[in-house]
Amino acid sequence: MEEMEHKLPEILPILPVRDSVIFPRMVVPLMIRDEEYVKLVDEVLQKDKLLVVSMIKDPEKTERPPEVFRVGTAGIIVKLTKAEEGTVLVVQGISRVAITEIVSDESYQKARIKELKDVEHTGKEIEAMMVNALNLFKQIIDLSPHLPPELVQLSRNVDQPGPLADMIISTLNLGRNKKQEILESLDVKDRLSKLMLFLNEELELQKMGKEIQDRVRKGIDKSQREYFLREQLKAIQKELGIDNEEPTEISELKERLKQKALPDQVREVAKKEIDRLSKMSPMSPEYTVSRTYLDWILDLPWREATEDTIDITKARKVLDKYHYNLEKVKKRILEYLAVRKLNPDHKGPILCFVGPPGTGKTSLGKAIAEAMGRKFVRISLGGVRDEAEIRGHRRTYVGALPGRIIQGIKKAGSNNPVFMLDEVDKLGMDFRGDPSSALLEVLDPEQNNSFSDHYLELEFDLSRVMFIATANQLDPIPSPLRDRMEIIELAGYTEDEKLEIATKFLIPRQISEHGLKRSQVKFRRSALRKIIREYTREAGLRNLEREIGAICRGVAKEVAEGKKGGFVISAEEVKKYLGKPKFTPDVAERTSVPGVAIGMAWTPTGGDILFIEATMMPGNKALVLTGQLGDVMKESAQAALSYLRSRAEELGISKDFYKDKDIHIHVPAGAIPKDGPSAGVTMLTALASLVTGKPVKRNLAMTGEVTLRGLVLPVGGIKEKVLAANRSGIKQIILPKENQNDLDEIPEKIRKQTTFHLVSRMDGVLEIALGLNHKGSTQQKNRKK
Ligand code: ADP
Repeated sequence: MEEMEHKLPEILPILPVRDSVIFPRMVVPLMIRDEEYVKLVDEVLQKDKLLVVSMIKDPEKTERPPEVFRVGTAGIIVKLTKAEEGTVLVVQGISRVAITEIVSDESYQKARIKELKDVEHTGKEIEAMMVNALNLFKQIIDLSPHLPPELVQLSRNVDQPGPLADMIISTLNLGRNKKQEILESLDVKDRLSKLMLFLNEELELQKMGKEIQDRVRKGIDKSQREYFLREQLKAIQKELGIDNEEPTEISELKERLKQKALPDQVREVAKKEIDRLSKMSPMSPEYTVSRTYLDWILDLPWREATEDTIDITKARKVLDKYHYNLEKVKKRILEYLAVRKLNPDHKGPILCFVGPPGTGKTSLGKAIAEAMGRKFVRISLGGVRDEAEIRGHRRTYVGALPGRIIQGIKKAGSNNPVFMLDEVDKLGMDFRGDPSSALLEVLDPEQNNSFSDHYLELEFDLSRVMFIATANQLDPIPSPLRDRMEIIELAGYTEDEKLEIATKFLIPRQISEHGLKRSQVKFRRSALRKIIREYTREAGLRNLEREIGAICRGVAKEVAEGKKGGFVISAEEVKKYLGKPKFTPDVAERTSVPGVAIGMAWTPTGGDILFIEATMMPGNKALVLTGQLGDVMKESAQAALSYLRSRAEELGISKDFYKDKDIHIHVPAGAIPKDGPSAGVTMLTALASLVTGKPVKRNLAMTGEVTLRGLVLPVGGIKEKVLAANRSGIKQIILPKENQNDLDEIPEKIRKQTTFHLVSRMDGVLEIALGLNHKGSTQQKNRKK
């Protein structure tokens, strides 16, 4: 700021101002509206442009001319602009002056003046005061948003204490009185102390103000933030297509609750849960958990039930509609239903269908449901090792759900469906708990009216559910479970039965499922036989149905491609649709060499034939067994070999046949697990055939256990075994004599096609199989006509 030396005249006009104090060196704009002062300014401008600016003592008073403070500032007009609202005058202060006397009182006042000089001080104290003042000033600027920070730098450049105080005070808006006080302080030390006092006061005020402001702002910020977030949330929900009107969701739930028939206790829980939900943020994870839980409660058929229509005649019709034959099974089902009809509260045993895959267990279940007018659901228990799969996980687990029972009930939509528990024989057990005990509770009529699922934590009444279990095998079913059940066995079908079922049921169904008309496709019987023999090897009908489906698919494709006319599937056509045969009837070829005998095995899938091959090679009397054989089977092989050695002479073979040799017994086609003693007869026959060099009779299969002394003991699974042998084209079968009664179960037709040899001793077996005739033969006696 440039220093100006002005020789001040003794008399100067006075410009009274309301609340500005002009300090020396400062440049200040002033607005003038009153006529007389405009005149004053005009006159001053004509002369030396000098005047005295002094503040009106009491701005409330309207007296003319106003009384002004006796200390003012002499200044020079540096600029003048006339604007609409008045004249804007820019004045630069020159020095403090005292008004000693008012000399003229015309339109404006003039005064005799005396220039006032600062009382200067130097030294540490003044310097410290300056630093202090600057500090305070800086803090104030930091706190006030409307003061430019450059002011600090500017004021640092002022090295004189008096002007520094003037500069600081003139930039701050501390009120007219304080400014006037500073103006009147001529002693710079005094001026600085006053300034510091004012600055301190101001700083306090500022701090308080900021605190108040902060507090206010925080309040605003928080509510604003929430507001913005909520708006964003709405936008996101809208984008996702979620109904963002949260209260609607709650009121919908309340409405659903109102409409739903529920036990009191359940209603109470649901009500509480809806209440809890309404207080949660829809974005929180708990919200989803609670919402899912409510959906489960509100979806489950607590009170929904179908009405039973047990009509035995109708049931008979339904069973016949879907199932060929199965007389015994149907009869037992009808009896069961009749008991139910007579005594609906009678909690009879649970039906359990046991049999190979594809024998109609599921479709029987469906037919029962249809006959009773009930819903049908089905869950698989195969591989279930965890109790929680039956009974659910507690809701504290992430993604917890009810167990399979409750899930099945929900799917059924009624609390009295026919509920099929598939594969009870495949139920596992491990450290996570025993699922079969949970299942027992489900099936126990004493307990299942209050089945508790871990997820629901509410009791569900299962007592009206009709459970039906299915299994491939009886043995692996835990016995407490088995005791609850009435076992109904389905053994599998013969080729002729399959032909019938295919013609009457499978083909019509597959044709319509592939969008074809009955008249469009015809299967020749020879074609069906070919499919059954060469493309499937099963007790049930699954693969047969699948292959028929594949042919229908092929036909449908040709129809879609525009091919017209009826399609007749002959045996030759089969290959075109199904490709190469999957099984070859290789029975005859394989038994044409010595050492190969055909056994029959019972398997969970309904029985199969197996080839036992014995070979001999140079070695050291070792017996090698291959083909994943179980221990019992290995023992049978040992027993067979021992028997053969002990009877060598009688059988007309060299006593030393075993010397310098290893014997290898192999059971190929390793897919079926091979254990059990029933292959003993077959192994012995294979060995005998090997050592005698005579091939086993063609198309002959056998089963039976042997003892070291050559007795043939009875074995199980005769029906399945015979059916399997028949499927493979076997014409003669050797069975233990004690299994004679099992022949009653064999379908008439197969009995006619097959010659059965019932034997009680190994000699008989060897005579039939190898034509070995020796002393003590009992062949004739044991042969069934
Ligand atoms: P499972 O449940 O025993 O494995 P499915 O019930 O699924 O067997 O039966 C397989 C197919 O065979 C189904 O299409 C079924 O309708 C049919 N089926 C089974 N047994 C018969 C039968 N006796 N008469 C007619 N169709 C049958």
